[in-house]
Amino acid sequence: MTKFTDLTLPEPILRAARDLGFEKPTPVQALTIPWLLENNSDLIALAQTGTGKTAAFGFPLLSNTDIESKSVQSLILCPTRELCLQITKDLQAYAKYLPRVKMVAVYGGAPIYKQKEALLAGAHIVVGTPGRVNDMIRQNVLHLQEVNQLVLDEADEMLNMGFKDELFEIMSHIPESKQTLLFSATMPKDVEHLANSFMKGATRLSAGGEDKGAENIEHFFYKVQARDKYLALKRIADMSPKIYGIIFCRTRNETQDIANKLQQDGYNADALHGDLSQAQRELVMQRFRSKYVQLLVATDVAARGLDVDDLSHIINYHIPTDPDIYIHRSGRTGRAGKSGISISIMHSKEAGALKAVEKRLGREITWQKVPGGREICQKQLFHFIDSVEKVEVDEEQIGTFLSNVYKKLSWMTREELIQRFVAVEFNRFLNYYKDIPDLDNPVQAKRQEAKKDFKFSTFRLNLGSKHGLTKRDLMRYVNQLKVSRGIEIGQINIFGDYCLIELDSNYESELLQAFVSNKYKGVTVEASVGKAPKTQHSSKDDWKERRKTKKIDDYVDHDTTYYGRNIWEGTPKKGKDKPGFKGKKKIAPDSKTKRKKTP
Ligand code: ADP
Ligand code: MG
Repeated sequence: MTKFTDLTLPEPILRAARDLGFEKPTPVQALTIPWLLENNSDLIALAQTGTGKTAAFGFPLLSNTDIESKSVQSLILCPTRELCLQITKDLQAYAKYLPRVKMVAVYGGAPIYKQKEALLAGAHIVVGTPGRVNDMIRQNVLHLQEVNQLVLDEADEMLNMGFKDELFEIMSHIPESKQTLLFSATMPKDVEHLANSFMKGATRLSAGGEDKGAENIEHFFYKVQARDKYLALKRIADMSPKIYGIIFCRTRNETQDIANKLQQDGYNADALHGDLSQAQRELVMQRFRSKYVQLLVATDVAARGLDVDDLSHIINYHIPTDPDIYIHRSGRTGRAGKSGISISIMHSKEAGALKAVEKRLGREITWQKVPGGREICQKQLFHFIDSVEKVEVDEEQIGTFLSNVYKKLSWMTREELIQRFVAVEFNRFLNYYKDIPDLDNPVQAKRQEAKKDFKFSTFRLNLGSKHGLTKRDLMRYVNQLKVSRGIEIGQINIFGDYCLIELDSNYESELLQAFVSNKYKGVTVEASVGKAPKTQHSSKDDWKERRKTKKIDDYVDHDTTYYGRNIWEGTPKKGKDKPGFKGKKKIAPDSKTKRKKTP
């Protein structure tokens, strides 16, 4: 394992890294730092969010800075002011023992004159958002003729935010000979295009592939009616009394609205969005960082640059239509070896987006039933009792008050006492959650539940495309066997002279019998069961395999679940009517938790 000391970094930087508690380089640092110390050609580095990209470029940048020069030598561009401040702060920490290196942050939404003054006083490294950087160039306070290193941090996000033209504009002021470093968590087409436009023969380094969402993140979705989303959100939060997470909303209005409602309902929640002043935003972020605020309701843009490492939950109030955004969001939990939970609260029209995200993640997102009142009360009660067990009691202080209390309560038994004391804390909660309705569509919920431990057997039949067999024909044929109502059909693959079809393994022998005694269009059917019945497709590899067998799409509507269909329901339904994606149910997120607020 590489150590920082192996990286031929200057001693002051090594010392700063030690002060920061950086013991060894992260994978992206181990790859890029030595490379950057040796090369001055262009670089594209891909690594997940939270993997230490700032130091990956920051350490070499600082090592290369010529403090005798008075010109700007490095320009770091990033999408938001929060990120800009964050990077500057990080670089300052890395340069703790290099006090003569001057850094200036230039970003919108703050008075320009101070930043101008700072630039005029001289800077070796400028960290900026594209719009403000261009302003500074136009106003002739930022001169980039001597820049030899340009960093595009979070390039994907800069393009998402529409900074393409600004970037090209800035580029035209920087010498051709510069070294360009592009850092990104994802590499969508437009970033590829950007890289091709102004980077030449760039080396690509990828630390553990692109941002696919760390393995230690669990992904769940809940499916409710659009109007029930807020209720579902509350129940999810109540199910995890120790929740510490970000709820992502689409618009500033929605963000504020949800935060207001949560606050009114007694949650530690606050909103972070672009309508707030810089000072307000900073206050909110500070309250969130210190965990005074447990639930931060935010837009994507506003949440950028909020460097919080130990989020327990990411909640998508709507599943994003761009899978990269989903990955970015969920990448904010499960960091630093901790586990995380990424939740999407969906209504049926968002199913297409879910599929796109699953494809991008390379794994299934698991359906979860919206917690019911009983479950939530149990969880909260347990949490409450747990905190009673753990509370510190200052016997000396409290003891002086207690003798009268003991006397007053002496007529009660221990059990009565416990009952009352739980009731005091808990009655409002119980009342709220008494008889609350199920938020899941009952039909879908039943179907999803049934699929939890479902097993398919793979049948091989001597019928194939040469018999004119289509998937629809095959479904019909199986349907006509009338072995039992509600047999689940899994994946179907049709080849030249045979086909494979997955069917409910509970009916294996009956189905085999029925196949061989029912001709198909005059053909005597031979049937066998292939592999041992396998469990529900859930492992990552299995899922990838499934994705490769695209053929099934000929049969079903593109947006339709193609296995686990109840064949007695007739032809697959389209769009919003389609059955939810099935998945294995997992235990509810978070089990030992706190919150005593009543909803
Ligand atoms: P990214 O830009 O890839 O999202 P950051 O550079 O913001 O990630 O780093 C994420 C967190 O990891 C920061 O809190 C940073 O201080 C910390 N970090 C960076 N490098 C190391 C390291 N080598 N060892 C321990 N922590 C690190
Ligand atoms: Mg970063």
